[in-house]
Amino acid sequence: MFEQMESTGLQDLHFAADPDTGLRAIIAIHSTVRGPAIGGCRFIPYAGDAQAITDAIRLARGMSYKAALAGLPHGGGKAVIMQPPGDYDRGALMAAFGQFINNLGGRYITAMDSGTLVEDMDAIATRTQWVSCTSRTGNPSPSTALGVFEGIGCAVRHKLEHHSLCGIKVALQGLGHVGFEVARLLHEAGAQLIVCDLNNRRCIAARQAFGAQCVDVNDIYQVQADVFSPCGLGAILNDDSIPQLRCSIVAGSANNQLAEERHGEMLHQRGILYAPDYLINAGGLIFVALNHARASAEAITAKIHSIGAELEGLFRQADALNTPTSVLANRRAEAIIEAARHSSEGDEKPAESTEESSNDHRVSG
Ligand code: NAD
Repeated sequence: MFEQMESTGLQDLHFAADPDTGLRAIIAIHSTVRGPAIGGCRFIPYAGDAQAITDAIRLARGMSYKAALAGLPHGGGKAVIMQPPGDYDRGALMAAFGQFINNLGGRYITAMDSGTLVEDMDAIATRTQWVSCTSRTGNPSPSTALGVFEGIGCAVRHKLEHHSLCGIKVALQGLGHVGFEVARLLHEAGAQLIVCDLNNRRCIAARQAFGAQCVDVNDIYQVQADVFSPCGLGAILNDDSIPQLRCSIVAGSANNQLAEERHGEMLHQRGILYAPDYLINAGGLIFVALNHARASAEAITAKIHSIGAELEGLFRQADALNTPTSVLANRRAEAIIEAARHSSEGDEKPAESTEESSNDHRVSG
């Protein structure tokens, strides 16, 4: 565990267990040098403690990079709650999790992520102010989806020299809050969809709504498509899946898509253009941060659309330097965080100002 922390540069790791509610939760704080750590909360079953810890650590670093590249005054953090087997009182469990967050005194602000709902954020908010995406502020997923859609369009223009998504074939993995909305936007733009989800009902809904072709979850990697869009969970770009890919572009919402950094190089070697996850999926985070700063809806939408331009710059640089996009994006984010570390001379910036603490922090995973 400590090796993992050191190799990812994680600042600290927190654990909570509450036998009364069944809560078993982990909060990973990657960095607070640019501001309080921010990032969503997962509520999914884990095979064991080690898997949950690894997930939290990897996701927290991605959030730091995402906030840095989006120019937001935050560091990265992430929470995972291990879904208990059997019956449990979800509201009580989320409230206990809220107490856990509160004990950190504003160093970490939580939000929705896989498996959590606006109602969960409301339950968390009964115990702490360090929560966003409550029913007062809403779900960031449509903004994440808009950024992903924008990024897919940009990647298609760059790699395939197609200025429209009409007729473009997209293999989409995961039809949850973000994936289903990405599917809708792609369908409206005339793209052809091949989809999968662990939950077959979501596939049926996509077939009915968008004429999508449904495939088994094990077959999605081999689909002959222009774009593979991972919108489920992370680590799906690995030694097993990459050789199966039959696409030109990987561009989707899932966090931590690369199982290891070297898999970015593997995609590059295969001539597959990879849109780094924390850049293409920053729409939700932009939405909540700019809302917090009282920006107009137009300004928020314009900033989300600018994800395409950011990606275009990265793609061009990657071509010019013959370097994987994942490597260049990491370098950029690390340079921004390092610069903040130097300018703060090691001082942290916990979120205890009255302005921060009096607002509902609007953050996405
Ligand atoms: P979600 O839980 O609503 O949806 C995930 C969907 O993926 C579910 O339908 C699930 O059944 C499916 N899935 C999981 N593993 C799968 C697999 N191996 N094959 C096929 N389907 C699979 O989550 P979400 O909010 O839509 O987020 C999706 C991804 O995007 C996550 O990685 C999340 O961390 C990331 N993300 C989300 C947001 C956001 O605003 N919600 C922002 C940034 C990143």
